[in-house]
Amino acid sequence: MSTLMKRLPKFEYLGPQSLAEVCGMIAGTTRDEVLLLAGGTDAILQMRRRERTPRRVVGLKGVAELDFVRGQDDGGLAFGAMTTLQTLVASPLVGQRHELLQAAAAQIGGNELRNVATVGGNIAGALPCADMSPALMTLGAKIKLVSERGERWLALEEFFPEFGRTLALEDEVLAEISVPKPAANSAGAYLKFHDRHSMDMTIVGVAAFVSWDSESRTFAEIRLAYANGAPTVFRAHRAEALLRGQALSEEGLEAVAETACAESSPRTSWRANGEYRLELIRALTKRAIRQAWEKAVRSKAVTSKETSR
Ligand SMILES: Cc1cc2nc3c(=O)[nH]c(=O)nc-3n(C[C@H](O)[C@H](O)[C@H](O)COP(=O)(O)OP(=O)(O)OC[C@H]3O[C@@H](n4cnc5c(N)ncnc54)[C@H](O)[C@@H]3O)c2cc1C
Repeated sequence: MSTLMKRLPKFEYLGPQSLAEVCGMIAGTTRDEVLLLAGGTDAILQMRRRERTPRRVVGLKGVAELDFVRGQDDGGLAFGAMTTLQTLVASPLVGQRHELLQAAAAQIGGNELRNVATVGGNIAGALPCADMSPALMTLGAKIKLVSERGERWLALEEFFPEFGRTLALEDEVLAEISVPKPAANSAGAYLKFHDRHSMDMTIVGVAAFVSWDSESRTFAEIRLAYANGAPTVFRAHRAEALLRGQALSEEGLEAVAETACAESSPRTSWRANGEYRLELIRALTKRAIRQAWEKAVRSKAVTSKETSR
């Protein structure tokens, strides 16, 4: 991959105002010909490096129906693909229902970047280092894809078949992300390791989401997902299974971390080699689970206090 930045190639820019217009503009085209532009923080660089040379660019900025955050009646949360990362960070509703999403979004870039970068672009770019996808996966997020042919929902977990690719067809737009209501006594943690403090890409990111059974004091549920642990963001199902129904223990954490490493296949790049990334996966897995567990236990304590008042 050349990192040489050139001027933007020539393209025709289209500025639709509705999702139906977007779908009409991309129907029957390929992603080589037409590029969907959200915040442009990845896409513009790709064009300047000539990794993408589309004939047309369809800007999504004017499509107001893709930019919303909404609570659902069942306690879940829905947001549009054009929601910026900063909107997620600042939204009281998101903080109330899914604080883990704010924790992940807040660790992406700096303020300038978060003000333009969107959650849809973070997901649809399909980069293994994308920080929103692990957090969303552990929360059981679903995504809505829309085209002139209609709409369909997919589990985010199934969306990335291989490096840099998604299951979206050429004529589909990622429109919405939906996250179910969290279980009782649950909490999450997102830990990411990167070189510099604000503006560098993730070397490894670990999302842990747990719910706690207060009777047996064991893990009722545990989900783990990784950025840069493999060619795609992924969930470590075998590692998760080891702790369900178990109490928190050092041996349990060791076993989970070991299995998570066995499920990972991190690459070697100029940022870090694969072995180093495995060490990070091992350490951050234990730390993220412990943090999520402690928060879940605290949230139970707070709820009990509130109900006894
Ligand atoms: C300095 C810097 C630091 C960064 N740090 C981080 C970081 O710490 N963590 C991280 O995860 N990322 C980071 N990034 C990468 C990037 O900013 C994020 O991934 C961002 O969320 C991308 O969103 P965007 O709206 O800018 O997407 P764009 O660049 O507009 O689009 C990205 C890709 O997604 C496609 N796309 C966008 N929206 C849709 C849609 N609705 N439907 C279908 N396809 C769509 C585009 O066609 C394009 O292929 C960084 C980038 C820079 C430049």
